[in-house]
Amino acid sequence: MSNRTLNLDDNLYSYILSASSRESNLLVELRKETESVELSIMQIAPEQGQFMALIVKLLQAKRAIEIGTYTGYSSICVASAMPEDGKLIACDVSKEWTEIAKRYWKQAAVDNKIELRLAPAIETLDNLLKGKQHNSFDFIFIDADKAHYDDYYERSLSLLRPGGLIMIDNVLWNGSVADPSITDVDTKSIRALNEKLKDDERIELSLLPIADGISLVLKK
Ligand code: CA
Repeated sequence: MSNRTLNLDDNLYSYILSASSRESNLLVELRKETESVELSIMQIAPEQGQFMALIVKLLQAKRAIEIGTYTGYSSICVASAMPEDGKLIACDVSKEWTEIAKRYWKQAAVDNKIELRLAPAIETLDNLLKGKQHNSFDFIFIDADKAHYDDYYERSLSLLRPGGLIMIDNVLWNGSVADPSITDVDTKSIRALNEKLKDDERIELSLLPIADGISLVLKK
């Protein structure tokens, strides 16, 4: 028994996967293909993808945004969990990575639900705000470059409907956030956003130690 989060050793982590992972063959294939792509560490963990899909179903999300698509694993999890008329706006700057994503979206039969915006995400979010799409999204996943996390967060909060959810990835940044001697731009940016969220009265908050740390932010 434990009243704090258990440390996950390899054995316990394998147990979690064997006891609960429902990863499809297609997602296994995508994960394998992505292993050969640069920065493959950026791919989300399978248990995280499954968790995201559950959250999207719980929210009955029909309108979603993903900031940082990479090779498409999380977008497939999110889009698959949305109804046929659901729409996910996927933001990324890499044509190379999203070409892989597009291939898998087709195979997963979710390409009709995903709209790729190949541009800096801040531009895409600002365009949505210019188009008066405030308070209209159910779910937003923030997982792009860490230096801009607060920019993504503020825009996302405006675009989200009350009761909608922002999921922020990598909030523990491999433990760096808890080590004050680490002061690179990415770590500082994540740490600052974590501190801001703690007292942000616009939201309800839960930081979960899933994968590299996920913050769940519910807009009041
Ligand atoms: Ca990530």
